[in-house]
Amino acid sequence: MKYSNPRPIRSSKYSHTRHETSKRPQKSFSDISKFINKAVITEEVETFVPDHTFLDFNLNPLLIKNILSKGYDKPTPIQDRAISHILRREDIVGIANTGTGKTGAFLIPLVNKVLQNPDEKILIIAPVRELALQINEELLQFARGSGLFSTVLIGGAHIGKQIRELRGRSNFIIGTPGRLKDHLESGYLNLSGVRTLVLDEADRMLDMGFINDVRFIVSKMPQERHTLFFSATLSKDIEKLIHEFLQTPTRISVKTQDTAKNIDQDIIRLSGKNKFDVLKDLLTQKEFSKTLVFTRTKHGADKLSKALKTLGIKADAIHGNKNQNARNRILEDFKKERVNVLIATDVAARGLDIPLISHVINYDLPATYEDYVHRIGRTGRAAKMGKALTFIE
Ligand code: AMP
Repeated sequence: MKYSNPRPIRSSKYSHTRHETSKRPQKSFSDISKFINKAVITEEVETFVPDHTFLDFNLNPLLIKNILSKGYDKPTPIQDRAISHILRREDIVGIANTGTGKTGAFLIPLVNKVLQNPDEKILIIAPVRELALQINEELLQFARGSGLFSTVLIGGAHIGKQIRELRGRSNFIIGTPGRLKDHLESGYLNLSGVRTLVLDEADRMLDMGFINDVRFIVSKMPQERHTLFFSATLSKDIEKLIHEFLQTPTRISVKTQDTAKNIDQDIIRLSGKNKFDVLKDLLTQKEFSKTLVFTRTKHGADKLSKALKTLGIKADAIHGNKNQNARNRILEDFKKERVNVLIATDVAARGLDIPLISHVINYDLPATYEDYVHRIGRTGRAAKMGKALTFIE
């Protein structure tokens, strides 16, 4: 999407133009100007014109009906460019971040593949539980009324139920690396007949140290397979993985910028002010209707959530120490706006697709610039404006 006639939106009431050196060690952030980037809005937005409509792909009529009833009237850029290749069973490397419609880009042609051949089996590997659940949710919508089955294999969920589901016939297995490996090792999961593989957010799997588990899982699949590889970033290590897992892939990149243009980014200088008070002042402003706050630690997230609750702010925390049921319930509360402030750690928030987040606040600094990009990517999604604020000591 191109923007014309740019003009800045606003600047934060706490921000100063003078750059000071923070007291905290900030090796990765010698240049904090990276956190300041006025979003541009336009009077006239030039929208993306896809080459295809969903009708052009010759998809199963039931699938087309489900796509349209999801409210997708035209393909996003990644969908526009990837779907035909995937339908032709070509290996794909998609350089795309969440928010681009990448899930639909692989699910739509893969659901079509299963509708053509009900014996088809597909494995989707995602770095975190929530992402696996989100993929399954989208899958169920695309596959509504088709009699197609899926099994989600993620940590923190009941293993006995997963084993029972594995005995049935599932066209799609969606899982996180650790739990998939456990099921393979205990012999409940057999991938010898699974000829399609999706690696979603491969860069995250690499960052989180899951890549050897992924290697182990892929080694249990047939050599001759159809592989789709998605990553928000490209690096030497990612190139190595592409070379290792794919055969002469078609590359599609829809990521032109490292941070979205429609996210208004600014810093808030604490300049000796109490950090919690500054946060509280922000959160009591009306425009902070659905705010995601990042802390560095799980403990920090809990502490902050408790402190905000005692002030009557509807807050909750999500992190790896909470079990899956609790995490799902909290996310649902946030989505439905029963909770207005969600405090999260980086790992817990990865890949989350929560509509209409008004603000992302980096209460604690992210560990790397890449984490920063992932954090603020939770707002400003699907062409909506978002705001990201980073606290600087
Ligand atoms: P993703 O990048 O897959 O996480 O998708 C980001 C958001 O865009 C999700 O809420 C999707 O439901 C939505 N989305 C994906 N494809 C389309 C489309 N073709 N039209 C409208 N919304 C879409």
